[in-house]
Amino acid sequence: MKAIVDCNCFYAACERLFQPSLHGKPVVVLSNNDGCIVSRSDEAKALGIKMAGPYYQHKKEIEENNIAVFSSNYYLYGDMSWRVMETLRRHSPHVEVYSVDESFLDLTGIAENKLLEYSFFLKQTTEMWTGIPVSIGVAPTKVLSKVANKLAKKDKAGTKGVMILHTPEQQKKALQNIAIEEIWGVGSASAKKLRMHNINTGWDLRNMGAGWARKNLGGVVGVRLIKELRGESCIEMKTALETKKIIGTSRMFGKPVYELKEIKEAVATYVTRVAEKLRRQKSAATTITVFLVTNNYSNAYEYKPARSSLYSILLFATSATNLLIAHAMPLVEGLYKEGNKYIKAGVIVNDIVPEDAIQFNLFAKVVHSNEKVLMETIDNINFGIRNDLLKFASLGTKTGWNMRQDKKSQLYTTRWEELVNVR
Ligand SMILES: [Mg+2]
Repeated sequence: MKAIVDCNCFYAACERLFQPSLHGKPVVVLSNNDGCIVSRSDEAKALGIKMAGPYYQHKKEIEENNIAVFSSNYYLYGDMSWRVMETLRRHSPHVEVYSVDESFLDLTGIAENKLLEYSFFLKQTTEMWTGIPVSIGVAPTKVLSKVANKLAKKDKAGTKGVMILHTPEQQKKALQNIAIEEIWGVGSASAKKLRMHNINTGWDLRNMGAGWARKNLGGVVGVRLIKELRGESCIEMKTALETKKIIGTSRMFGKPVYELKEIKEAVATYVTRVAEKLRRQKSAATTITVFLVTNNYSNAYEYKPARSSLYSILLFATSATNLLIAHAMPLVEGLYKEGNKYIKAGVIVNDIVPEDAIQFNLFAKVVHSNEKVLMETIDNINFGIRNDLLKFASLGTKTGWNMRQDKKSQLYTTRWEELVNVR
């Protein structure tokens, strides 16, 4: 049997954990640059606040309903996520971290009649150790465990946040109660198509044949999905945390920018963020792309902006900020044209490899391990004390290139000055 452990309203839960006065109150968390709503507490959902709605459109109802609003605080969520996953790792030899707030667990070895008890034990332990509420779905396959989890979340009062789909009867009942759109792996386009075939629930889909799935549901993927719904496991557990294949940072400028020097500072700042992300997942990149977006029309919203980009392939993969900046600056110079009105810039790295698998190039200058020590030192100081306390001179002295986070909470668990004070 497999379990999926999913944190409830994860970002909102992290914020609420450190502001206990918000328990039972509506909370929302915004995406980068305070753009859209990306996490809602149950109370906010009950007030009709929609997922992914633009913040400015909902500002009025948010204020009227006295909903607490937070900018996203990814360091805090990352650290809380790590705590949840570590707790799970203590209790299962095989944990696959699926996303920041979800993990699959292999429950092989737990007796069938102990599954419920064990799941409640996991839930209580995680909540006690981390303060983050979770829901657990247990079933013979990943797809069914996701179904169980969805249903457990929907009926928190009835299930107490845990659902086991062990017997065929339990599976049938669950699949009859779940809409096709809610099945893991069914996108909105496929769901529309399925509904046209009069396939409306998980149970309807489960009863379709393999030949039909191959033809109508994306070939092998569709066949696998139906097998999984029937309790035949074909999506295996992965061990290692999959690292991102592409990492990028880009921002709209607060106002149009014309000077090369300023654009270089912005790009150097984004390179710094990208390099930090690379180091955090213990990887290095071989290709770096810089793009600039111009809009020379007086009304910036009337015409499609023009985007131009250049990339550079490195002799060896790196995550060192200084090396990546050194590669990015000539790209900016190559792209820049005097007189253009720049409204956005971005940096993307790809061809990402694990840090410990870097192939050194015979023709490249030997990299000194000093670079690694330097980066670790910088990261420790910046994460532990203040962002950009130590930075490269090419970032300039302005600080406006980072994202807008007007309502960001403290770094309660990772920064000395902001630690929670327990009296
Ligand atoms: Mg979740």
